Amino acid sequence: MSTSTVHLGMPSVRPQHASPGSTLRGAQGFPAAARAELGDETLRGNLRHATSTIQAKRASAVREVRDWQKLRNAGSALKWQVTDHLPELLEQLEESVTAAGGVVHWARDAEEAGEIVAALALERGAEEILKVKSMATQEISLNEVLEHAGIRAIESDLAELIVQLAGDTPSHILVPAIHRNRTEIREIFLEAMPDLDPSITDEPAALAEAARRYLREKFLDMPGSVAISGANFAVAETGTMVVVESEGNGRMCLTLPRTLISVVGIEKIVPTFQDLEVFLQLLPRSSTGERMNPYTTLFTGVHEGDGPEEFHLVLLDNGRSAVLEDPEGRSALHCIRCSACLNVCPVYARTGGHAYGSTYPGPIGAILSPQMTGMHGDDDPNSTLPYASSLCGACYDVCPVKINIPEILVHLRAKDVDRRRETRGDFHGTWDVALQGAGKLMSSPRAYDIAVRSAGPLTSVLRGTNIGRLPGVLPLVPGWTDHRDLPKPGTSFRSWWDQREKDRGTDEETA
Ligand code: SF4
Repeated sequence: MSTSTVHLGMPSVRPQHASPGSTLRGAQGFPAAARAELGDETLRGNLRHATSTIQAKRASAVREVRDWQKLRNAGSALKWQVTDHLPELLEQLEESVTAAGGVVHWARDAEEAGEIVAALALERGAEEILKVKSMATQEISLNEVLEHAGIRAIESDLAELIVQLAGDTPSHILVPAIHRNRTEIREIFLEAMPDLDPSITDEPAALAEAARRYLREKFLDMPGSVAISGANFAVAETGTMVVVESEGNGRMCLTLPRTLISVVGIEKIVPTFQDLEVFLQLLPRSSTGERMNPYTTLFTGVHEGDGPEEFHLVLLDNGRSAVLEDPEGRSALHCIRCSACLNVCPVYARTGGHAYGSTYPGPIGAILSPQMTGMHGDDDPNSTLPYASSLCGACYDVCPVKINIPEILVHLRAKDVDRRRETRGDFHGTWDVALQGAGKLMSSPRAYDIAVRSAGPLTSVLRGTNIGRLPGVLPLVPGWTDHRDLPKPGTSFRSWWDQREKDRGTDEETA
């Protein structure tokens, strides 16, 4: 008797969502948070000015590139290649980084990543560390974790430094202090920098100079030091990390310390070094509206006598595998954090980033955060994020890697509605009752005809061209007319058609 080999396969572990220690969920849902932010006139003015300026710069930088759409297609195709082969590419990256003298750590969630970084810093006796601007470290609340371990983290990016000194949180992916104007920044600096000359003006050059002096002292005071960064891209083929920035402070953090720790989301991978030629064209034009970033730093492992003596790469999952699991939502992982979608979004431009409650605000945040954390019921603030959009599609038009944000928003809304149906049945709210009624009406031509024909006489008693506000009159659509003009219905198509046919008949008879 012959026997055959039976393959039982590898035991699989279901991907888990981001841990509660992440800053991916706010204290309240988007509608309540947005209402509070909308009341702040200064904030709205600051946002209007900043987003329209960056938008105009981006548009003119993109117009210069004749094959922009081809570049977008290439960026999108490369990102799909990454999501299709992520496990293999991550293993390849680990091998390349290790071969170049680096050490790779795997962090399942925010807590694990924080523990790894804090342990590395403590082992090296660090009491103060410098940081390069990084969304991944914001996401895992690294500054707070380090503070708990007795280590002070200092942000080296100007905008991040403003946010940190103000005890505030970032509100934009690229310009974390976009909600602050220069008068506010001057006040923050005067409060936080005791040696600052009180006669300092709020001119941008004077404020930048003050920040430069403050940070230079920190850079010079880094003996036996540790610095922490993220990375815009991680090349699987070579183990190279790429960090782009505008100020040069990041490059000092990447080159001066003895130990460099980079915390990088697993989706930041690109397959080959050559693929960078696509992304290093797409990113600067889409983010700052520049042809190239003023500082692009590439580093591969460690090299004797050149740069840090130790390099540690912390690869962070924290809910990304859960995003990857959903074929309709996974392209959210393609994001290269350019923030172009934030600047064109009419919702973001009015509410600002804090209303989203997550490290990732704006349209990308509305699809990424709820997928990373999961949407856990009506009380979960992140269940409201997929509704924080008018679905105008402007975000999709500007996205350099062609993430179809509106399509994913609708997909997440459908998931949220399905979940509610599962727990509460088909009629779980006024909208369901209204839409079920509308569905019935529209599926019967006769009922629809009667309803439309009777709407005219009913509204003829109203004066003006709009119906106006309807408090309590239509309890199924509460609030709908509070902020919208509802025009009075005119002649229905059927009535117009009947009249037209009647007039035609009369004309033919007289001819
Ligand atoms: S979703 Fe697209 S446009 Fe928005 S930040 Fe990411 S890459 Fe940029």
